[in-house]
Amino acid sequence: MAHLHTMDRVFEMRKVLIAGGGIGGLSAALACARAGAKVALFERSAEFSEYGAGIQLSPNVVKILYGWGLQDALHDVVACPDRLQVRSATTGVELGVLRLGDDIARRYGAPYLTIHRADLHALLLAAVRRQGGAALNVCCTVTGFQQTDTDVVLQLAHDETVHGDLLVGADGAWSSIRQQLLADGTPQPTGHLAYRALVSQARLPEHLRTTQVTAWLGPNMHVVQYPVRGGEWVNLVAIVHGQVQGDMSHWDHSGNAAELQQRLQATCKPLNDLIHAVPDWRLWALSIRPPMRSGREQASGRVALLGDAAHPMLPYLAQGAGMAIEDAAVLARVLEQGGLFANADGSADPGDLVPGLLRHYAQQRWPRNARVQATAIRNGKIFHASGLMALARNAAMKLRGEALMDQPWLYRGA
Ligand SMILES: Cc1cc2nc3c(=O)[nH]c(=O)nc-3n(C[C@H](O)[C@H](O)[C@H](O)COP(=O)(O)OP(=O)(O)OC[C@H]3O[C@@H](n4cnc5c(N)ncnc54)[C@H](O)[C@@H]3O)c2cc1C
Repeated sequence: MAHLHTMDRVFEMRKVLIAGGGIGGLSAALACARAGAKVALFERSAEFSEYGAGIQLSPNVVKILYGWGLQDALHDVVACPDRLQVRSATTGVELGVLRLGDDIARRYGAPYLTIHRADLHALLLAAVRRQGGAALNVCCTVTGFQQTDTDVVLQLAHDETVHGDLLVGADGAWSSIRQQLLADGTPQPTGHLAYRALVSQARLPEHLRTTQVTAWLGPNMHVVQYPVRGGEWVNLVAIVHGQVQGDMSHWDHSGNAAELQQRLQATCKPLNDLIHAVPDWRLWALSIRPPMRSGREQASGRVALLGDAAHPMLPYLAQGAGMAIEDAAVLARVLEQGGLFANADGSADPGDLVPGLLRHYAQQRWPRNARVQATAIRNGKIFHASGLMALARNAAMKLRGEALMDQPWLYRGA
């Protein structure tokens, strides 16, 4: 067994190496450890953390999280919105409603929940630690890898290396693992900017507080609001068209509230009041890749990609983290059913098992991920429509609102 000693860590031969400890990486660590794998995860940050923003979790994702034993932990921190309502950002008129709550839970076997990202990340981290079998390493920047016939060697900064049977690149949209595997450049800017904010409901006037998901649609913009943290906070995302200067690949840019208010000044009074009631915004320029075209973009040899590393997408179907969690669940299932984790002592399996299993994982995941990516792009065009196209959208929503908003192919699960 190969051992690598550093100042305070021991990296021993592991079956599954994971680059990145975001929602995708932690989900993969949890799913694989639950299946009996020895896992080592490497996160470049000094501590495991997530930025302050919300995430919608649709039934396909909640079902997986429940299956990982997280039902009670989730219900300590989530909000359970009763409706997803679509309104015109210009007139304020309600365009359509999808009933959530018990209705959607009955239909798909799990509810539709909303959560603070940090809460989801923290409960995944706690679950990995409780599970055991996964070594979680921080301050470990992954710089590259080498594949051989029998293993994969992960290179870390400061000339450290660690051996494993397979490597999962869960290092986000600007993945260095993807860069080495596919050499297909970086995600491209979309010209869409996301302003995000969290505000305590107690700080909002009564008429701006909410228990539901609301999407406000207008020409070249939309806003989504929903409760998180047991309903005590509201998450807001305002998407507008525009460009920003500088490196926007990291989540550390403060958004200018006055600038956002100016951009959205033509919206209806209730939305305007909401935007003006929020003092602090963070800003993210949205970059994506085109929908996946083959399984090679999801895995090759002993290296699998997962989450944003494989399929960075527009957030207009609210599925980026969801697809990372689905990737993780399917990956662990394929590896377990393929017999990779049979040896509880971590001893090596036949060297040729892994590439075939990862091909199988890729075949199971890429068409669904591609469909989600493509639907999110299409939603952007519909959400931001103006003129005749907006009129047609509003008429269609009035006639068939709930049927258009429901997504059985997605919410039923992978
Ligand atoms: C405005 C907006 C709204 C969204 N809303 C939703 C929603 O409602 N529902 C939903 O499901 N999704 C949503 N998403 C998408 C979701 O946020 C992402 O798809 C998801 O967080 C991706 O997780 P990940 O683990 O793949 O990547 P990341 O969260 O980017 O994690 C990557 C991790 O890898 C680490 N890392 C990077 N490089 C290295 C390296 N070289 N070495 C070691 N570690 C490294 C990073 O520090 C990070 O911890 C939204 C996104 C946006 C922008």
